[in-house]
Amino acid sequence: MSEATLTETSIPQQRLVVTEIPGPRSREIHERRRAVVPPGVHSVLPVYVERAHDSIVVDVDGNHLIDVCGGIGVTTIGHTDEAVVAAAAEQLGKVTHTLFTMTPYEPYVRVAEYLAQHVPGSTPEQPYKTLLMNSGAEAVENGVKIARKHTGRPGVAVLEHAYHGRTMLTSSMNHKAAPYALGYGPRAGNIYKAPNSYPLHDGLSGAEAAARTIAYLEKVAGAEDLACLVVEPIQGEGGFIVPADGYLPALADWCRENGIVFIADEVQAGMARTGTVFSIEQFGVEPDIVLSAKGIAGGLPLAGITGRAEIMDKSQPGGLGGTFGGNPVSCAAAVAVFERIDSEGLLAEAKRIETVFGGGLRELQGKHPAIGEVRGKGAMLAIELVQPGTVEPNAELVSQVIAYAAERGVILLSSGVSNQAIRFLPSLKMTDELIADVLSVLDEALTAHA
Ligand SMILES: *Cc1c(COP(=O)(O)O)cnc(C)c1O
Repeated sequence: MSEATLTETSIPQQRLVVTEIPGPRSREIHERRRAVVPPGVHSVLPVYVERAHDSIVVDVDGNHLIDVCGGIGVTTIGHTDEAVVAAAAEQLGKVTHTLFTMTPYEPYVRVAEYLAQHVPGSTPEQPYKTLLMNSGAEAVENGVKIARKHTGRPGVAVLEHAYHGRTMLTSSMNHKAAPYALGYGPRAGNIYKAPNSYPLHDGLSGAEAAARTIAYLEKVAGAEDLACLVVEPIQGEGGFIVPADGYLPALADWCRENGIVFIADEVQAGMARTGTVFSIEQFGVEPDIVLSAKGIAGGLPLAGITGRAEIMDKSQPGGLGGTFGGNPVSCAAAVAVFERIDSEGLLAEAKRIETVFGGGLRELQGKHPAIGEVRGKGAMLAIELVQPGTVEPNAELVSQVIAYAAERGVILLSSGVSNQAIRFLPSLKMTDELIADVLSVLDEALTAHA
């Protein structure tokens, strides 16, 4: 098969709305779905997608929507990237599965090599080692497991506003009980939720916020009982919260002094999204373990747990793994993503998006007092909507703006424990023209609902 028959390169990078949204065909499929899919699997925007390329998704009614969500930061290098599709197709025709823990294959090793070269703290003399799994939640589960094995301690520290997944352990680590943990108990034990750094709301410096976090954990958990501290360098579901300067380094120092494994959950912020391969680089921290998933394989399921050798090596043979973990097709796709990041200068593209998109959002902030803050790094940006003149969340306006944009063919997503923010996760290849179009729809929406 040629590349042209495999990909949808012909989709023009333009918004085009031809029916109401969702359209009649989407509504018909949605009715069928209701009969056979439980409501717990909720779709934010029930527009059924037929195909997609780069920043445009085409629904079953022929609408071309601008995707500013990217499957929540998964299609970082765009939908159906030609190199990813070609690499996955080639691997699919060679071998789709053997089970790495039975008879292994090279693409897994190549993914581990790339991660060893890019995780801050890893060196050629002492490279970090990687276990591959399927999902972000599995990455978190295994990070905790490995930290417990290494330290022999039970405690898991997390931060308020955190999100780490929907498995039994990770749902207990999230800030929000509803919808993630409520009714699914008993919840996992030995989890301690400490105050985070949220500059817009706490007004604390990084040092002050870290002192508060540490004091809480020392009192409530006891440092010597903690196996790990799991932090998202930029909190994702929590509202794209960028901690104050110095906060993360102070936590990392405290972890080192107390033998606590510092785990950076980079599932959403990692993989070139913020302008560096891992966002934690920008905070000057060398984590003991880094977790990757979402954007790592251009849309295929894959997750990495990458850590210091002495920590990773504590597990006995057979203690780590899983049937599909590090699937060869996903690994081949990930290698293609890594090559794309390097060959296409995608880190610089993330910076372009920060300038163009972030700059545009700041202009809107000057015009719309409901925008309390514009924040984020690279192509991980958000606006927090407030009651004008206060920092009180304005969840109603968030919903109104998102609904207004959806009707006009722009896919946006909220974020934050009070739904106080709209987050933007564009493809790193999103054109300046598309960004301008998204900004104009946002401007209209904020004007319409002012
Ligand atoms: C999405 C997410 C997860 C969970 O990943 P899944 O692949 O959905 O299991 C964990 N941590 C963070 C920071 C995430 O954004």
